[in-house]
Amino acid sequence: MGFLPREGAFPALRIRAKALEPRGPFARTQAEYLLPDELAVRRLTGLLEATGTAVAAHFYMDPQLQGVLAASPWPHSSVTDSLAMADRAMEMLDQGARRVVVLGVDFMSENVRAVFDAQGLAHVPVHRVATEPIGCSLAEAAASPAYDAWLQQAAAVPNALHVIYINTGLDVKARAEVQIPTLTCTSSNALQSILQAVAQVPEVAIRFGPDTYMGRNLQVYLRRLAAMSPAQVAQVHPDVTPAMVAAALERFEAFPDGNCIVHDVFGAEVARVIRADYQQALVAAHLEVPGEMFDLALEAQAEGRGVVGSTSDILHFILARVDAAVAGDAEPAEPISVILGTEAGMITSIVRAVQARLLQHRAAGGADLCVEIIFPVAEDAVATTDDRELVVVPGVAASEGCSAMGGCATCPYMKMNSLDTLIALLERIRDGATAADLAAYEPTRWAGTLAGRPLAAWGTQPILAMRHFQRTGCLSDELVARVRGPQAQQQE
Ligand code: SF4
Repeated sequence: MGFLPREGAFPALRIRAKALEPRGPFARTQAEYLLPDELAVRRLTGLLEATGTAVAAHFYMDPQLQGVLAASPWPHSSVTDSLAMADRAMEMLDQGARRVVVLGVDFMSENVRAVFDAQGLAHVPVHRVATEPIGCSLAEAAASPAYDAWLQQAAAVPNALHVIYINTGLDVKARAEVQIPTLTCTSSNALQSILQAVAQVPEVAIRFGPDTYMGRNLQVYLRRLAAMSPAQVAQVHPDVTPAMVAAALERFEAFPDGNCIVHDVFGAEVARVIRADYQQALVAAHLEVPGEMFDLALEAQAEGRGVVGSTSDILHFILARVDAAVAGDAEPAEPISVILGTEAGMITSIVRAVQARLLQHRAAGGADLCVEIIFPVAEDAVATTDDRELVVVPGVAASEGCSAMGGCATCPYMKMNSLDTLIALLERIRDGATAADLAAYEPTRWAGTLAGRPLAAWGTQPILAMRHFQRTGCLSDELVARVRGPQAQQQE
């Protein structure tokens, strides 16, 4: 692995079939993690085998840990987005794993726990990988008294539907569902969920939270739809017209005070530099990014050179571009350059998937194609360490790393799941630690009742409502009836 001098304002990682070429210290650190220490790989693999542990990790996981996991031959390991983590964990159990560690933040491990319990798997151990709480600025915003107060007001609005982002705790979803009909969404289905609600209940009043940027971005989307022709809108949703979108916009409200601290760093200055210096690059951004970056990515998407969506959408977009280049098999003078507008931990999944395709192409005699991932992060988005081996790490010195002070696009909460903490936990399990010994690693089990019903049942209802929508393309009759309210039911 070479270390090239920086060219543009931002660090970048060039991916070839058999080589990684980082530009700038931030990218070099990311690349180093992709070539993990063999001893660490063997040690982790041995522990996972000995304890029969499946690993359900989020895309944003610490790159060092992802690198070691990806190099391990242990079959029960998956890296995915928050929605799919519980499903993958279930699959790995079916394939023979005996317990699951969740590498993510606390609401993710709580979700896996709740799904297992609901499926009659309460006896299967689920572990989080830290003894202290693993928070999330978005989840905390939704758990605040301000959010509760906002929901109380929303519940008094006729035909209100609360659309809640998946990155929130089960208890928050439960408290919301008790007050107001609630539908969970992800960044990849948020817009379609809202349009479907408009199609089935034209008078619906959407309340979106807790992500303020995502809420604002959805409003921008809706405004654009409202200005399109009926035929154009029908292509996005066949049962919705521009007039229906315009009317729904009047009643749309987003929670004003909830941000992901990682996506907060992709602000106006970053967008300005991209516009000035990276006009030829493709742009892949998460739906949570702030307004200026979102506008830029949306423009790129409209011009066919970008995507705005979930982590999975970003990965698919990049791979589609690679597939197109492979199919054309030209030797492009320039690499396929992509601005990565999301958490830098995604680079591990991107590199693995892109290199697999490039390798296959080379093996078939194709050209040595190059994909360049550009991290739109601050120049000083690395901190020096005292470690002679690891001189720099992603993160800003003496801060939480991805704060607004000079963002490095890495989530400090996710990074609490380190290789060392995972190994220490697995060693304790291997050495016979009892359930009581491991109590601090247990996700919260949401016991207790709300309005006479188990809290976990309330909390999973908005998730089941989303799964119904994903399965059928429609909101359930029950949810629609609740949104319409008792008066409409009496009239019917
Ligand atoms: S990146 Fe970190 S802070 Fe942002 S939503 Fe995910 S867990 Fe929360």
